Amino acid sequence: MNPTSSINEQWHWLTDMVQTIEVGLVVLDKDFNIQLWNGFMESHSGILFDTLYNKNIFEQFKDLPKDWLQQKMQSVFLLKNRSFICWEQRPFVFQFKNYRPITCRANFMYQNVTLLPLTSKEGHITHISMLVYDVTDVALNRQQLKTANDNLARLSQIDDLSQLYNRRHWQICMQKEFDRHLRYGYSTSLLMLDIDYFKNINDNYGHYAGDKVIQTISHIIRQSLRQTDFAGRYGGEEFAIVLPETTIQQALNLAERLRQTIEATPFVFSDTMIKITASLGLCEIDNHIQTNEQWLENADMALYEAKRQGRNCSVIFSTQYKNLQFKNESTLN
Ligand code: GH3
Ligand code: MG
Ligand code: MG
Repeated sequence: MNPTSSINEQWHWLTDMVQTIEVGLVVLDKDFNIQLWNGFMESHSGILFDTLYNKNIFEQFKDLPKDWLQQKMQSVFLLKNRSFICWEQRPFVFQFKNYRPITCRANFMYQNVTLLPLTSKEGHITHISMLVYDVTDVALNRQQLKTANDNLARLSQIDDLSQLYNRRHWQICMQKEFDRHLRYGYSTSLLMLDIDYFKNINDNYGHYAGDKVIQTISHIIRQSLRQTDFAGRYGGEEFAIVLPETTIQQALNLAERLRQTIEATPFVFSDTMIKITASLGLCEIDNHIQTNEQWLENADMALYEAKRQGRNCSVIFSTQYKNLQFKNESTLN
């Protein structure tokens, strides 16, 4: 076999492969003039190699991230190392449309790009090659998975009925807020809300009516909160709200607004309009409170006192309630 024709043949095969391979291949000289632009690049850019040959890539493709890419390419020339651009760092280098109608969930082609130094026969780095991989499927799958995971994480934090934080997640956030208070020392208040005579609603109108009341009151709570406040469904018909950077007086204003809104909201069951009220207990962190559990306990004691005072009212924690509750408990025993 004639070795010259074999090399020619190999050359022919290689050229054919470079033209048809499903990877973009570009070769640039030191001035960033295009020396090679394969079939993949032609079909995705819509521009033939003939019209680009020896022209500066940044002049031909104005939307390329010129400064950033040039810097990367210079370091490939200088350090003689390859460089990798991942879609997560930059979704694409060449703005190509995504042409796959069936999986058409992206408007553009996500790309991974490798920059390779090319050595001349004399051993100098005279050119750089760019390998452009279409990773749209990988990127979209990864993003879908991330969205699904984010949704799952969110679902694991939210109580289904009230759409407020569930108890576990609320407690984690509350603990964090308590720690933040210890570090920065700004006023932070806690509010506990419990629906009055809720058992009667279940007994008289059924569990479904009870659920509707929980949903409506949760909605009222959500509407009343500022961005930084967070509310959770602490128990069956009991809610807990942390109010960062809020004094007890400001917390009382919110508590009263909530209480009055609930009282003024008409609930209609079996053609009967009923009035529902709630009791609220409040506590601001002060020097006497050492732990987040104590903070919660104090707010709960204030709530207990609100119930004791006849319900449908808001009560701020005071140390005397501790003694009061202790006395009540000891008379029960
Ligand atoms: P008080 O004014 O002292 O708070 O009286 P109450 O009847 O509201 O309090 P109690 O704790 O005796 O009753 C709470 C009831 O809430 C008991 C339970 O059956 C009901 N409950 C708990 N979770 C749910 C729920 O998710 N949906 C419904 N419909 N009822 C619930
Ligand atoms: Mg209740
Ligand atoms: Mg209760």
